[in-house]
Amino acid sequence: MMATTHLLAGLLVALPVALVYPSFAMPVLIGAAVGSVLPDLDLYYGHRRTLHYPTIGPVLAIFGAIGAILYPHPWVVATAFVLIGAAIHVRMDIYGGGLELRPWAGTSDRAVYDHLRGEWIAPRRLVRYDGAPEDVLMATTFAVVPLLVLDGLLWYLVAAALVISILYGLVRKPIVDLGVILLRHVPRPILMMLPVRYLEGELADRL
Ligand SMILES: [Zn+2]
Repeated sequence: MMATTHLLAGLLVALPVALVYPSFAMPVLIGAAVGSVLPDLDLYYGHRRTLHYPTIGPVLAIFGAIGAILYPHPWVVATAFVLIGAAIHVRMDIYGGGLELRPWAGTSDRAVYDHLRGEWIAPRRLVRYDGAPEDVLMATTFAVVPLLVLDGLLWYLVAAALVISILYGLVRKPIVDLGVILLRHVPRPILMMLPVRYLEGELADRL
């Protein structure tokens, strides 16, 4: 799933809490926004493993929520929603595609690494790959209520996420072919710094 789908899902889940407790709206929504994109910071280093915790993450989120209820300080609430957003992200990734250069090929059996079991969870492919039509549709659906309810900076964040989702969906497949062509002209030392999944055929042979 796209980072923007994760962002919009996190905001949608946090929105009712923000509406019921308006004095905590900012820590709730900003915490959820940060948390829902945070796990993908491992994109270039152990993607879906280094910062993705499908079992421990949700447990931490529950502890975070309990902490926020017992001690509702804005920073505690924000931290709880960072954990909740991250947990939703990682669980969502299981229902997406696998870890491969062209996830629509459906050849990878790796969705998210389960640190507790010490093995990869297989992708369920309800959303076949990030940027797939069903992914864009999901992002659009998630954006509707936040666009109606939010205003100010957060409204623009949601609107931007929606526009980026649609544009990314349009270029998702061609961008891989373009990337492979561009990589042919990249010097070997730089190629070696890229994750193996970005390399295929002759590019991998150059390593
Ligand atoms: Zn992810």
